[in-house]
Amino acid sequence: MSSQSTAKPWMVSLHGGHSGAYCDHADDTLEGLVQAAVASEMQTYGLTEHAPRVEPDLVYAEEKAMGWDVAHLEKLFGDYVTEARRLQGAYSGEIELLVGFEIEVVPVQRYAPVMQDLREQYALDYIVGSVHWVDGIIIDYTRALFEEAVEACGGLEGLALRYYDTVADMLVALRPEVVGHLDLVRRHGVEDPALETPAVRERARSVLALAKEQDGILDVNTAAYRKGLSTPYPAPWLLAAAREVGVACCFGDDAHRIGEVGAGIPEARDYLLAHGIEEVTTLRREGSGLGRREISLR
Ligand SMILES: [Zn+2]
Ligand SMILES: [Zn+2]
Repeated sequence: MSSQSTAKPWMVSLHGGHSGAYCDHADDTLEGLVQAAVASEMQTYGLTEHAPRVEPDLVYAEEKAMGWDVAHLEKLFGDYVTEARRLQGAYSGEIELLVGFEIEVVPVQRYAPVMQDLREQYALDYIVGSVHWVDGIIIDYTRALFEEAVEACGGLEGLALRYYDTVADMLVALRPEVVGHLDLVRRHGVEDPALETPAVRERARSVLALAKEQDGILDVNTAAYRKGLSTPYPAPWLLAAAREVGVACCFGDDAHRIGEVGAGIPEARDYLLAHGIEEVTTLRREGSGLGRREISLR
């Protein structure tokens, strides 16, 4: 890792590095994203490409249109790890790259062993534990599919409750180091009060307690800005609850192209400071494993 000092030691991201080489809805090369992270003087940048989906009916329509199938998704993931490890060595004097992945859980019981196997097979540094699907329906893709999920759960509040239950199941099954965009359910629900009723808050709070118990780090994810939300994930009430429970936070730019590398992190820093959170936690390679480090936001 670079020993050079930086004016912004908090410019770190533990969730990002999706690139057009391995992901249908991203652009640019992985090396291009890494160079952008170096250029923005990030000290640590976590590469966390999406895990491959292993069932044909979960391949997205856009992927199918490009001729992609499950075997191709699995090949791309292997290629991603090979390239990420190459970059980790090649840029070690300039930036600390971590090589992890963002998991899929659809549903948890069936996918947890698949995700665990991937982690072991590729000796990945860490997991970003994200939930994108609720009862087999993806919630952060098209508006129509989101509405379908709402209907299947009997309304927006019902969807939020099922979503947080699924996050809890995922945490129990996989103990991810980083808890990805905790309230992704807001993606299409844009700040609707049904997503923060007393019942939803109680459910989300138990997820935070579980994350704390597991030493999970909460991804303060700036992709929310790009989706038109006024704050990163998680929302202010969740952030306040996280602070009360004592869950550590990290930043995630969730970059899917060069222009998104580091984007929104300065604003997210202001957001944390405004909510009384004075530090973020990052990961770094230590020996054969990962260590944690707290970085002041001041
Ligand atoms: Zn993505
Ligand atoms: Zn995600």
